[in-house]
Amino acid sequence: MTHSTSHVPLSREQSLARLQAHKRFDVIVIGGGSTGLGVALDAAARGLSVALFESHDFASGTSSRSTKLVHGGVRYLAQGHIPLVREALRERSRLLANAPHNAHSLQFVMPSFRWWEKPFYGVGLKVYDALAGSHGLGATEFLSRQETERALPGVRSQGLSGGVRYFDGQFNDARLAIDLARTAASLGAIVLNYCRVAELIEDAGQVVGVRVVDVETQQSYAVQSGCVINAAGVWADALRGVSQPSAHQAPPAKLVEPSRGVHLVVSRDFMPTDTAMMIPKTRDGRVLFLVPWQGHLILGTTDTPVTSAPREPEADQAEVDFILSEAAHYLKRPPTRADVLSIWAGLRPLVQSAAAAGSTKSISREHTIEVAANGLLTVVGGKWTTYRAMSEDVLLHAIAAKLLPAGTCAASVTADLPILGADSPCNTADLTAVLDPSYVQFAVEYEFARTIEDVLARRSRVLFLDAKRAEKLAPAVENELIKKGLMTSDLPSFVRLTQQYQMCP
Ligand SMILES: Cc1cc2nc3c(=O)[nH]c(=O)nc-3n(C[C@H](O)[C@H](O)[C@H](O)COP(=O)(O)OP(=O)(O)OC[C@H]3O[C@@H](n4cnc5c(N)ncnc54)[C@H](O)[C@@H]3O)c2cc1C
Repeated sequence: MTHSTSHVPLSREQSLARLQAHKRFDVIVIGGGSTGLGVALDAAARGLSVALFESHDFASGTSSRSTKLVHGGVRYLAQGHIPLVREALRERSRLLANAPHNAHSLQFVMPSFRWWEKPFYGVGLKVYDALAGSHGLGATEFLSRQETERALPGVRSQGLSGGVRYFDGQFNDARLAIDLARTAASLGAIVLNYCRVAELIEDAGQVVGVRVVDVETQQSYAVQSGCVINAAGVWADALRGVSQPSAHQAPPAKLVEPSRGVHLVVSRDFMPTDTAMMIPKTRDGRVLFLVPWQGHLILGTTDTPVTSAPREPEADQAEVDFILSEAAHYLKRPPTRADVLSIWAGLRPLVQSAAAAGSTKSISREHTIEVAANGLLTVVGGKWTTYRAMSEDVLLHAIAAKLLPAGTCAASVTADLPILGADSPCNTADLTAVLDPSYVQFAVEYEFARTIEDVLARRSRVLFLDAKRAEKLAPAVENELIKKGLMTSDLPSFVRLTQQYQMCP
């Protein structure tokens, strides 16, 4: 399998022209988050013709709002989800190998303040190591109090008795999404952001394509395929509803249960180290991470069941207070509201389960695949770490349901497939790098950026790291976008967004 080249500019006009010329594809994917992009890449790598449509920007939904961990999930181990943890640990090492420019291993320390914590969690983490087997990133070790303080400068010393060190992975979620889009495109897939699937096209009760609207021009396209994959995350149920337009039919039961997770970002000065702190059980029984990332410190997350799925979910004051007060409990210098540089919230597309009414903490993080009577294949749930394994499973289901052309390669080839992106100047963690014209130029020509927000939230991660800084950089980015011929008019709305990320009333 060879990539054409990572240096082919990916013009939107060319992609739209190809869309009109082809009209029929082996696979149509709805949604450009980790799930949809993973499916598009898997299908393209098998030699299938693929078109992927994302209504907003790639990763603008949940896939840019994760804790940025490539992990087996210590919490899921505690819940006894052994196969899920084992699969995620295997996928963790694949991702680190296939996208070394994006993902790396990270040392975590779990500080202990009660006598039983060190042996209890230490044994659990040894099991985590054992499940990883040859995919392990380093052995779990017990640390003395001094070793814990050395690894976690900034940890509260009062009552500290020691800690446990273990290893997991870390990545840049939105940038990996862009890398996956580029890799899929290099294998021939048409991947289009700002193209919304407005409806499914059915013939004799079977889905035979989709109607897509180019959000920039409002032009609409009918695109055909016998295999339509709904990977729309927390918005997946809307498409399942659309596929059942009959007034006489009851709408299908909901598949997705959204759960909001909030993160705060503060200066790295609160814990000046490259080691992350993991608190397995906060005072109300949740997991809390304090993770160094891109020169800053991420604190989070929460898990709050919600009933609606807005595009820009907002943190509520109670969630912010919870994170701050828990972090204050474990740090020498407690961060306050005034120290917060950015606040962002994301919605987990958890699989609906009647058994877990009222609480989303216990709902399975495994994915679910549904092939409806009309042939629409919907995939929801899972996590970023396992996007590749989920894609493989989706393609297996599509083959079993005879949605794909006869003779489609039954085996996925993505396990060892290198992911593009090492060449991007946008990989830098320097927040002012966007001021270099070559940055915006690359983001537009090679990474599908269309708006100020695309550049400052997902090509660079400034908005997520320091919302005020993002607001200051926005006019310069707008100028560069205009020079590239993009008639953006989103400066006022982007400024409003930066205020939401600062939680200004
Ligand atoms: C707070 C939080 C922390 C997390 N931390 C981690 C972590 O550390 N590690 C980990 O592995 N996982 C983590 N996860 C889980 C992971 O982020 C998600 O499982 C994953 O991003 C879901 O991706 P998705 O593609 O299914 O959904 P999304 O990323 O939301 O993608 C769905 C896309 O579909 C698009 N769409 C919707 N309707 C249409 C339409 N009609 N036409 C076209 N496009 C449409 C949307 O715009 C959206 O971009 C976390 C999740 C949350 C919320």
